[in-house]
Amino acid sequence: MQRNEMKLEFDSRSCNEGFARVAVAAFMTQLNPTLEEVADVKTAVSEAVTNAIIHAYEGAVRKIVIESRIEEELLTVVVRDTGKGIADVKRAMEPLFTTKAECDRAGMGFAFMEAFMDSLQVESEPGRGTCVTMTKHITREQNKYERQ
Ligand code: ATP
Ligand code: MG
Repeated sequence: MQRNEMKLEFDSRSCNEGFARVAVAAFMTQLNPTLEEVADVKTAVSEAVTNAIIHAYEGAVRKIVIESRIEEELLTVVVRDTGKGIADVKRAMEPLFTTKAECDRAGMGFAFMEAFMDSLQVESEPGRGTCVTMTKHITREQNKYERQ
């Protein structure tokens, strides 16, 4: 399959979190993923978008951009915000680390993204924003319709 790309820009409203994960799920269907693979990607997208809404913009309505591409069997999803950024990315990515414990956050978002995707890269600059890049290999052999 040739390279295929999409780009979405939407408001950082919590009602758009569902839209974002379904949009990426719809985009990846051309890879004939299993239901489990779709669920994994939806969870990861949901965590990244939620982080942009609550941490990056802290409730203010600004823009979140998702870029996704498919190259052969590799799905790449990039979630970008231009919000407050992360001072210590390594620390932020540690399981259970949260700066919003008072809001009942568990500090597990990045851990879930790491667990459900094959790779996770977080680039951030305080005051400028954060870019989360995730990839997942979607194994075509798993699809029973393709084997027939
Ligand atoms: P949970 O995801 O379990 O509800 P959480 O959001 O605090 O809790 P993570 O998603 O792992 O946990 O994020 C860890 C920390 O990294 C956050 O508490 C926040 O300080 C910071 N962070 C994550 N994403 C962003 C972002 N897009 N912009 C600014 N800070 C972020
Ligand atoms: Mg989170």
